[in-house]
Amino acid sequence: MNIIVLIKQVPNTTEVKLDPKTGNLIREGLESIINPDDLHALETAISLKERLGGKITAVSMGPPQAVDALSEALGMGADRGILLSDSAFAGADTWATSFTLGRAVETIGTYDLVVCGRQAIDGDTAQIGPQVADYLKLPQVTYVCRIEKVTKKTMTVHRRLEDGYERIRCPLPALLTVIGEMNTPRYPDVGRLIGACREKAPIKIWNAADIGVETKDVGLQGSLTHVIRTFAPKFERQGEILEGHTEQVVRDLIDRLKKSEGATACKAFESTCKL
Ligand SMILES: Cc1cc2nc3c(=O)[nH]c(=O)nc-3n(C[C@H](O)[C@H](O)[C@H](O)COP(=O)(O)OP(=O)(O)OC[C@H]3O[C@@H](n4cnc5c(N)ncnc54)[C@H](O)[C@@H]3O)c2cc1C
Repeated sequence: MNIIVLIKQVPNTTEVKLDPKTGNLIREGLESIINPDDLHALETAISLKERLGGKITAVSMGPPQAVDALSEALGMGADRGILLSDSAFAGADTWATSFTLGRAVETIGTYDLVVCGRQAIDGDTAQIGPQVADYLKLPQVTYVCRIEKVTKKTMTVHRRLEDGYERIRCPLPALLTVIGEMNTPRYPDVGRLIGACREKAPIKIWNAADIGVETKDVGLQGSLTHVIRTFAPKFERQGEILEGHTEQVVRDLIDRLKKSEGATACKAFESTCKL
C-alpha cells in the first residue's frame, strides 16, 4: 500500500503570540516540532506498511528548516520525504496551501491513501485535509480514530463524533484525517534518524516548477483570502472581593449584581438565600 502523509512543522506551543505591529506570528525562540496530529498520521501509515507492505512518502510545505520534520518522519519509518519550499509558496492561505499540496500529491502520482492530521496547532483551521481531498476528487473520512479493515479496494474506518463513533467503508484511494485517539506514535529510531540527517538521505526539495504550478496560483498571490489585521482581543476583568460572613456582605453582593448584567442570576440567588 503506497501512502502519502502530509506533515506540517509548527512552533512547539499552543499559545501563539502575535507581533502587535505586523500581526505576524512571533516564531523567534520557539522550538519547531512535527504537528502533534501528524505524528499520529505517520504512525497510521507506518503500521499499515508493516502489515501490508508498500512505501510511505512524507510531504511538507514550509521553509527550508522544515526538512527537520521530514528527517524525523524518516527516522520514524517513512521511506522518503518531499519538502515543498519556494519563496513563491510564502504567505499561502489554506486554499493556496491545499492547492500546492494537492499538486505535489498529483506529481507523486501512484498512491492508495493520503493521511493528514486533523488540525495544525498553529493555523488551527482543520481545512487542509478536506480541501486536498476535494482538489484530488478523493473520498475523505475525517476524525478517524481506528482502521478496522483494509482490502485492495476499500477501507473500513471508525470516525469520532461528538457523542459516539461512525463506522464507514470507503473506496480507495482515499484521504483520511486522523486524531490522537488513533494510536501512540513511536519514537524515531536513532540509526534511521542519523541516516535521515545525512546528505544522501532520500529527501527532495521541490519548487513551483517541480509541481508544474505558476507563481500566480500559489502563496500570497494564489490566496483567496488576505489578512487585513491580526490582533488578540482585549480581555479585562475587574475583580472585587467582598470580605466577611455577615448578611450585610450578601446584601452588598446582591446590590452589585442588580446593577450589573447578572440581574437574572441575582434574582435566583436572592430567592435561594431567602433574603
Ligand atoms: C487568510 C490567511 C492568510 C495566511 N497567511 C499566511 C502567511 O502569510 N504565512 C504563513 O506562514 N501562513 C499563513 N497562513 C496560514 C496558512 O495558510 C496555514 O498555516 C496553512 O494553510 C495550513 O492551515 P492550518 O495551519 O490551519 O492547517 P490545518 O488545516 O489545521 O492542518 C490539517 C492537516 O493538514 C496538513 N497540513 C497543513 N499544513 C501543511 C503543510 N504546510 N504541509 C504539509 N501538510 C500540511 C497536516 O496533516 C495537518 O495536520 C494564512 C492563513 C490564512 C487563513
